[in-house]
Amino acid sequence: MAGSLRLPGFVNAHSHTFQRALRGSAAGSDFWGWRDTMLAAAESQTPALVREEYELTYREMLDAGYTAVGEFHYLGVAEAHAAAEAAAAVGIAFVLLHVAYARGGLLRFRQDSVSTFIAEVETLRAAGLTVGLAPHSVRACPADWLEEIGAYAAADSLPLHVHADEQPKEIEECLAEHGCRPIELLARTGCLTANTTVIHATHADGPELDLLASSGAAICVCPTTEADLGDGFLPAERVRTRGIPLCIGSDSNARIDPFEELRELEGIARRQTGRRGVFSTDELYEFGRERGARALGLEAWPETEVDLGHASLRGVEAQHVPAALLAGCGADVVVRE
Ligand SMILES: [Zn+2]
Repeated sequence: MAGSLRLPGFVNAHSHTFQRALRGSAAGSDFWGWRDTMLAAAESQTPALVREEYELTYREMLDAGYTAVGEFHYLGVAEAHAAAEAAAAVGIAFVLLHVAYARGGLLRFRQDSVSTFIAEVETLRAAGLTVGLAPHSVRACPADWLEEIGAYAAADSLPLHVHADEQPKEIEECLAEHGCRPIELLARTGCLTANTTVIHATHADGPELDLLASSGAAICVCPTTEADLGDGFLPAERVRTRGIPLCIGSDSNARIDPFEELRELEGIARRQTGRRGVFSTDELYEFGRERGARALGLEAWPETEVDLGHASLRGVEAQHVPAALLAGCGADVVVRE
């Protein structure tokens, strides 16, 4: 086959773009050892570095077929503007998921109060950025912060993104502090609505998955990162049977390849169930595009284009191209601008 095929662009609903620099480092350490390496990289970020490096990584995302990105950002307000400028320079649709961080991590991540965080959000919105609210996690935000952030997001119908249930230790700490699990705490504090996206939910139990389903919240699954960090994998069949919406993210950006994220998601589901086609091709594309856009509050985002003459599509009949892209192609099938 010759020529090319235009498709709606993929939506990367969860990225920490500075972490692109970490691939291959901390290769032998556990999640918490990797996190120490990540914190050191975060500490060294400046607006100039973000402006330069994010442009290069956003270019890689576009070249891989992602035409929109949700930047889950905890590096400071000046760096948020730098990230937005980098995205504008390459033409990727950009949503800043501005992070609230009360405790832990690095001093530079933290606001001194939840009202300082809200003031930052208002400044960024007033400057014209498309902004969502991102209480980092139940580790980083106490219940009173979550309540205030949930109320602000609801009042203005803004996206709310939050990490939850990535690692068992986070669940143990939440149980000890609050007597409930992370997604239960999000529900209790008004942070679980149809505008919420929970990142990972790897270790969510049945009642937590029920809460996601009844609230209409989505899960952003980041399979290549979850594999790289040894998090575990999504309970895909239990998510599917409850009808919980899914979207995808490149997260740590060790890999930038939407085809691979979607293939991994379906691969996990097949390994868990012993069945093929747990998610249909159409469903996987919807997770990778429309549902990601919805999670970011985006109504429009650019298209992408794949090379029908690429070796990975050799011998594939035209009607099988969409499924073949997910089954057997990498991001190099995308036509570069
Ligand atoms: Zn993340």
